[in-house]
Amino acid sequence: MELSNDNLVDKVALVTGACGGIGRAICERLAADNVRIALVDLDSQELKRAASMLDTDTFAAALDVGDSDDVSRGYDRIREEFGDVDILVNCAGILSNNKLLETAPNEWRKVMAVNLDSALYWSQAVVPSMKKNHFGRIINISSFAWKAGGLTAGTAYTASKGGMVSLTFSIALEFADAGITVNGIAPCYVMTPMISEQLSKEQREAILDLLPVKRFCMPEEVAHTVRFLASPLSGFITGEIIDMNGGLQFD
Ligand code: NAD
Repeated sequence: MELSNDNLVDKVALVTGACGGIGRAICERLAADNVRIALVDLDSQELKRAASMLDTDTFAAALDVGDSDDVSRGYDRIREEFGDVDILVNCAGILSNNKLLETAPNEWRKVMAVNLDSALYWSQAVVPSMKKNHFGRIINISSFAWKAGGLTAGTAYTASKGGMVSLTFSIALEFADAGITVNGIAPCYVMTPMISEQLSKEQREAILDLLPVKRFCMPEEVAHTVRFLASPLSGFITGEIIDMNGGLQFD
């Protein structure tokens, strides 16, 4: 594996949540570099539509990322019909704004399954071939909520994104000598339906007031960071969580 170039041509990326606001932007960004993309999301029609808009070779797998059997079956199909995965982007996620006393057990379980368990299942699936090929990039889309306690986000969501950070650290350390990097991105307030539809107008105005950059993050900006981390030239960066919080917190 040539480490001193930035070439991703013909690499295979698997992007979960590929039909969402950030997932679509990630697919478009990677497709621009001729990365072959396996798109994963819930709805097969939406997936077909999203895949057809990409100017690269694609494979669409409709499945529930929070279900380990679904992931295992889906991964087997992707590997057999599309090839070994070089870049895994765990982007599928659901938001819950309920705080501690309003968080029901089934809500907690559902958020954990989709946001956190899924990242474990997909990482377990792709790591053996990444190890064999001595190249792999795992990129976990966490959230600023993980260290801010969730300004608007609820308890289950915040805990799931914190769990994702610890998972990132653990896998990064275990496979650091295998050519596999594992990093996270912690954005806040990216302009997708998660913000435009799940927050009220008043909540959005209050957030803009709070944000030093005075604007929401764009999905393309998150996609740009994914592209950076996916590069062979980013191989010395592992176990890092890249903040994209518009100056809300410096550290
Ligand atoms: P989105 O709702 O537009 O996209 C999420 C996608 O995940 C959807 O296409 C949805 O169908 C898919 N998905 C949900 N449950 C699934 C399941 N069980 N199996 C398969 N796919 C499933 O949201 P987004 O804003 O694009 O968010 C993408 C990621 O970024 C999420 O993990 C989210 O937590 C994280 N994030 C978003 C923001 C933000 O402000 N938008 C901020 C920080 C982090």
